[in-house]
Amino acid sequence: MFSRRKILRASAAGAVMTATAAAQAATFGNPDEPAQGALNAKGPGNLEDPGPQNPAISSQFPSAQFPPATDVGGMPMDWASFNNAPKRIQNGGWARQVTQKDFAISDTITGVNMRLTAGGIRELHWHQAAEWAIMTYGSCRVTVLDAESRPYVADVNEGDLWYFPAGLPHSLQGLGPDGCEFVICFDDGDASEFNTLLVTDWFAHTPPEVLAKNFGVPAESFAKIPLRNLWIFQGTLPGDLSSDRAAVDKTGSVPPHPFIFQLGSSTPAKTSKGGTVRIADSGNFHVATTVAAALVTIRPGGVREMHWHPNADEWQYYIKGKARMTVFNTGPNALTMDFSAGDIGYVKRNLGHYVQNVGNTDLTFIGVFRAPRYEEISLSNWLTHTPPALVAQHLNVDQETIAKWPDDGPGIMPR
Ligand code: MN
Ligand code: MN
Repeated sequence: MFSRRKILRASAAGAVMTATAAAQAATFGNPDEPAQGALNAKGPGNLEDPGPQNPAISSQFPSAQFPPATDVGGMPMDWASFNNAPKRIQNGGWARQVTQKDFAISDTITGVNMRLTAGGIRELHWHQAAEWAIMTYGSCRVTVLDAESRPYVADVNEGDLWYFPAGLPHSLQGLGPDGCEFVICFDDGDASEFNTLLVTDWFAHTPPEVLAKNFGVPAESFAKIPLRNLWIFQGTLPGDLSSDRAAVDKTGSVPPHPFIFQLGSSTPAKTSKGGTVRIADSGNFHVATTVAAALVTIRPGGVREMHWHPNADEWQYYIKGKARMTVFNTGPNALTMDFSAGDIGYVKRNLGHYVQNVGNTDLTFIGVFRAPRYEEISLSNWLTHTPPALVAQHLNVDQETIAKWPDDGPGIMPR
C-alpha cells in the first residue's frame, strides 16, 4: 500500500498509528470506504511533509499529523492549553488564562491557572461569574462571605474543590511549605481573572471623606491605602485555621453548606479495572449550583467509554498522562486530538466522545460542566437497554454478542 520507510521518515510516532489504522481498515467498518485518512495515500511522497516544521510541537500531535482513518470532516478546534498562555507575574504568584477570545469553542467556561507562593495573596475581590476551582498542588486558605453575612474560612489541599457563587467576595492565600497551584473555571467564556472587582481599586477610587463616613473613622486613617491595585501580592503566612475562624465569627452563624469539597479523596462514582470516575455536583457539593465536575483517572490502555452529556458542554483540564480524544458530530464528522498535562479540551453538549489513555502512566483529567448536575448517556448502556433484536438489525451484530456488552455504564473500560 505504501512504504513503511517513508512513513517512518514522516513521523516515528505517526507511523505506529498509521500502521494500526491501516490494519483495522483492512478488516471492517467505515475505513473500508474512507473519506479521509492516511490509508488513501498511494503514491510516493503522499505522507511526507517537506515544508517548514517545528518537531517539538508537531510531535505532540500524532492524531493531527496522521488522523485515524475513521476521522472525517472539519470540526472546530477542541484543543487549547495553558502551556502557551502568557503569564501575568507579580511578587507572590502568577496567573494565566484561556477565555473564549483565546479558544472560540469555549463559550461556557473561562479557565484560569494560578500559582500562589507560601503567603502569596490573591487580593480580596468579587466578580460577575461564579468561580469553581480544583487544587492541583499544595494548599491555600480561602475566605468568603455569603449573602447573609455568614463568613467562611477553610484550607484547601490537592484534589479539593471550591465554589464561590457569582458576586460573593473572597480571597485566596498560599500556605506553607510551598504555596499552591490550581485551576479556576468561571461559568462564563467571557469572564477574565484580569478584570475583577478589587477591594483596593474601590478604596483608591472613593473620596477619603466618603471612606471616613462609610467606616466611621477619620479620613486620615486612609492616608496610606495603595493607589494601584494589588491583585496578587506577597503577604505573610496566616496563623492556624481555628484562629482565623474565631477572628471572623461575629454572630456564630455559618453558611449552611461548605464552599469546599474534597473530590480527590471522595468515593468514586464508578470504579473498574480501567480506572475511576469521581463526581462533584450540587447533589453532593451543594453550593455548586452552576458547575458540575467529573474527575477521571484512566489506567494505561484504558478508555473512557463512548458517551455524551445531554445537559452541558464539557470543558476538560488534563492533569497528568497522555490522552487521545475523539469527538463525533453529525455530518458525519469525527475529530481526534492529543492532550498532555496542562492542556484543555472542549466537547459541545450531546456530541459523542471517548478518551483513550495512550501513555504508559495513569491519565487524569477533570471534565467541568456549566450545569447543576452531572449527566451522561453511555453508548453501551443505551444499546443494552434497547430491545436486542432492534439493536441487532441496526448494526449487523448478533444478539449473543450484544448480550456481552456492558450494561452498567462502566465509565472506564475494561471493567
Ligand atoms: Mn475570584
Ligand atoms: Mn465526557
